[in-house]
Amino acid sequence: MDTYACRACRGSAGWLVLDLGEQPACDYFPAAGDPGPDPVYPLQMWLCSSCGLTQLRADPTVPEEPRGAEPAALVAQAAQAVERVAAAGLLPERGVVAEYGSPHGGSWLSLLAGRGLVPSPDGGQADVIVDCFGLMHAADQRAALAERAARLAPGGVLLLQYHALSTILRQRQWNALRHGHFAYFSTTALAAMLASAGLSPRTAWRFTLYGGTVLLAATRAGDGGPDDEVLALLDEDARAGVRDPKAFTELQRCVDSHARSLRDWLVGERAAGREVLGYGAASRAVALLCQARADRTLLPAVIDASPAKQGLRMPGTDIPVAAPAVLAECRPASVLLFVPDLLAEVRRAYPEVESLGGRWVDAESLGSARLQQDA
Ligand SMILES: [Zn+2]
Repeated sequence: MDTYACRACRGSAGWLVLDLGEQPACDYFPAAGDPGPDPVYPLQMWLCSSCGLTQLRADPTVPEEPRGAEPAALVAQAAQAVERVAAAGLLPERGVVAEYGSPHGGSWLSLLAGRGLVPSPDGGQADVIVDCFGLMHAADQRAALAERAARLAPGGVLLLQYHALSTILRQRQWNALRHGHFAYFSTTALAAMLASAGLSPRTAWRFTLYGGTVLLAATRAGDGGPDDEVLALLDEDARAGVRDPKAFTELQRCVDSHARSLRDWLVGERAAGREVLGYGAASRAVALLCQARADRTLLPAVIDASPAKQGLRMPGTDIPVAAPAVLAECRPASVLLFVPDLLAEVRRAYPEVESLGGRWVDAESLGSARLQQDA
């Protein structure tokens, strides 16, 4: 038996709650002409029975992802989040801010500069620490949170934003699991981690991003306790079963049913002579296309606005990534959207899709449609 230590509490007892088998690294996009096969690695989610943190079991991959275009939905959400934190009186009039951002992009610093907060010059103390999808990228969760806690000035606030585990369970977002994302936070597990770092959750805000995202404000433990919003999130976690391995059974079952429904749909469209293109070369598209064993005969290209991804292909398949101009050239009957948050933005940016008779199809809901048929 190999021994595994929890990334947060170092406990060794827990459950493997989701297993996607051997998967290519979703952040390594080979050149379009690279014939593969791409190296594959185990991709598994593990639930710690001690602290309740759901985490990536092992990650032998090295992050290489070309930085994507920042979705308008993410930019709008950041502005909304800063508004709400300010309205709650949690932003000082002036002070120092430190940011732990996501390697995929997105920064709140310019928004906060507009409110009199200047960036910490040298890794020193900060009155406001912003962590927008940053912490999940740390392999050592305990060390990463301890570092943030150590930098928090007296009376300061730590703002942590995460895609909620209860959302992943409720919406069966099995393809949220990916290499490079080491933790999948419930408010429950995060509260335990914060307590170990001498911090306490105070309040929280919810956003519709990724189907359900939480922004949690934490302060030093002596500065106060959780409000009703935090308690409501903890209550929802309990109902979703975030610490119960049985609650993940449905997530595992959906891997096959979602992939099968996507494959069946692509095969049906091809048989009917209707061309389909994909949109959004995101990590969840990689996992879904690999599970569905999709290739370029079923999906000739995945369109992506990021110039860094063009000329490359999707990991684990021969499907190339193409520029948005291809949408007008190919006139696809359907564009399979892998990132539902982009829908409003892509409809605005590429009106030619619908004006030429095509439609946008949500790749995630193809799975849930299948699920309803199964039920
Ligand atoms: Zn643990």
